Amino acid sequence: MSIAENIQNIKVALPPEVTLVAVSKTKPVSDLLEAYHAGQRIFGENKIQEMTEKWEQLPKDIEWHMIGHVQSNKVKYMASYVALIHGVDSLKLLQEINKQAAKNHRTINCLLQVHIAEEETKFGLDAEELASLLHHEALETLTNVHIVGLMGMATFTENTLQIEKEFRSLKSLFDQYQPLKRSNVTLQTLSMGMSGDYDLAIACGSTMVRIGSSIFGKR
Ligand SMILES: *Cc1c(COP(=O)(O)O)cnc(C)c1O
Repeated sequence: MSIAENIQNIKVALPPEVTLVAVSKTKPVSDLLEAYHAGQRIFGENKIQEMTEKWEQLPKDIEWHMIGHVQSNKVKYMASYVALIHGVDSLKLLQEINKQAAKNHRTINCLLQVHIAEEETKFGLDAEELASLLHHEALETLTNVHIVGLMGMATFTENTLQIEKEFRSLKSLFDQYQPLKRSNVTLQTLSMGMSGDYDLAIACGSTMVRIGSSIFGKR
């Protein structure tokens, strides 16, 4: 099946309120263009340099999402164009994003990454760290960032009960903090679900799925 067919097949099955991020990391620009011509406008990348090279070459109505771990010293390379940063997991990173956004006269939308998996290697805040970041007084000063939701990755396992448990724990944190209204915090996006588990993620309340291999093939 072609990239265009894969996108159509996924899109018809997605509820209308769920946004599709086409995860194009490692894939050539020609593959992204094929997806673009099939109507896809949101792409996810996990390396800032690779994303920037693609941004330079592709149409400017694409929304670029940074879905990988972000090093503070590289934020400047994407600050002029990035639409959403999914993997924010510290105040320090948020402060750097704010600084670079201000330089570019923009407000950058961010998701806070929550650690829901069992694996040690996955980045993200635990429930306590999430609470203290969302309530931190320094947030008020960060006028060029907007925290618009949460993101999480489930454990890499065949055990769907465990994956479901992890997705439900993220959804419950999302519900808990949705009423929180600060000048730059409005939780409306819940980014969870990848090729192998997005149906389950949607059943658990996801509003944004990040799908790579089911669109572009194996990496
Ligand atoms: C690579 C990646 C995805 C997409 O994974 P697939 O299994 O190919 O759909 C989603 N989210 C993140 C954070 C990723 O790094």
